[in-house]
Amino acid sequence: MLAILSELPISNCQLIKCTVISEDEARRKILDRIQPLPARRTPIAQALDCFAAEDYFARLPLPTFDNSAMDGYALVAGSSTKAARLWVSGEQPAGRDKQLRVSRGEAIRIFTGAPIPWGADAIVMQEDVTREGDEILINTDVAVGEFIRRRGCDLAEGQRILEKGERIRAATLGLLASQGIAEVSVSGEVNAGIISTGDELVRPGKKLQPGQIYESNSALLEALLQGCGATGTSVEHCQDDRESLAAAIKRVIANHVLIISGGVSVGEHDLVKDALRDFGAEIEIWRVAIKPGKPFLFGRLPAKLLDSAGETPAGTTGKMPVLRDCFVFGLPGNPVSVFVTFLQFVRPAILKMMGATDLSLRRVPARLAVDLTNDSDRAHYIRGKLEGGRFIPVGRQESHALFGLSQSNALLRLGLGQALKMDDIVDVQIWG
Ligand code: AMP
Ligand code: MG
Repeated sequence: MLAILSELPISNCQLIKCTVISEDEARRKILDRIQPLPARRTPIAQALDCFAAEDYFARLPLPTFDNSAMDGYALVAGSSTKAARLWVSGEQPAGRDKQLRVSRGEAIRIFTGAPIPWGADAIVMQEDVTREGDEILINTDVAVGEFIRRRGCDLAEGQRILEKGERIRAATLGLLASQGIAEVSVSGEVNAGIISTGDELVRPGKKLQPGQIYESNSALLEALLQGCGATGTSVEHCQDDRESLAAAIKRVIANHVLIISGGVSVGEHDLVKDALRDFGAEIEIWRVAIKPGKPFLFGRLPAKLLDSAGETPAGTTGKMPVLRDCFVFGLPGNPVSVFVTFLQFVRPAILKMMGATDLSLRRVPARLAVDLTNDSDRAHYIRGKLEGGRFIPVGRQESHALFGLSQSNALLRLGLGQALKMDDIVDVQIWG
């Protein structure tokens, strides 16, 4: 506790209770706080990458009726041996069931997707016959069931086609449409705001003065937010002063989520905590045993503030102010810290709000290409390249090293005191 107190820049009673916690505890606290947003109905064309808010079951079997897999001839296999000659008694196109019947010694011209005529038990494809007027000559052996797609062989009526909390992918949309479903019930859209803080920051496109750097975190964050399906991102830039921060917070407070980059450490210019508390925010987490990203902060701006702020928040002009909590994530400003803390804490929170069941990053096994040891006091996320089943650390493993990050496609979590040897099989996290 002494160590913690000595790090506090100003007397800050509320923060004393924020001790450094483990990553797992931080994630649990965040996820306990956050609930899925209310469900909404949307046309399926707009549901890609949303999460189903209820289970869906097949109304129709697939295929819906027995049909032909080929353009060819429907016939009775038993009377259609190689070199047999059959009379073509009719034609069955796709789209209208003519309820035709076929007998031994006959064939019906048929097209892909057309219903199978009564009595037929096989299709012979047109490439395997010679057409001679009203007759065909069979040039192949014909087996019962050949080229017939049976009703329900792919999907049975009543079978679950989409589970509550499952991500809706392109093929899911195709499947829903195949059931005649035009609208789906999905969980709410998450709106996020980003504030980047720092006197040294200049927007890309402007001229740099000595000592300044380009502001790169909001580009990174917007892409990460987009990657996990959040919408309506608004971006604000502000200086390291309380007034400028307060004005920016007011403008983005109507969002479900607010991400602030920079200003959450312990220096005199790290004013985010104070600015948030000026708004009555409850700061529930400050500092997590994670590398990079230790000064990570999580808090909640209570709903009542949206009324008492007294201004129409950005993006809600002309509408009633929205009454809802805004969850705040303060990410340490170094780009790799932003990236790692976003994936470990912000992403699962957003996915939970969006109604997802699976909140974790995908993990794949890999063979480690080097020896690795974690001597630090925190879990360390190593950036690396997953290539041909091997994980190779890339670039400098420091929180400012953006180029190394840009070359990586996987993260390896090294636990406290963990030592790994070359060729060990490890689980790495991948994103995107
Ligand atoms: P801070 O967390 O504000 O102490 O910032 C830590 C480091 O990250 C400093 O070197 C900052 O210049 C850098 N940094 C902070 N915010 C950004 C940003 N938006 N874009 C690029 N670098 C940043
Ligand atoms: Mg700063």
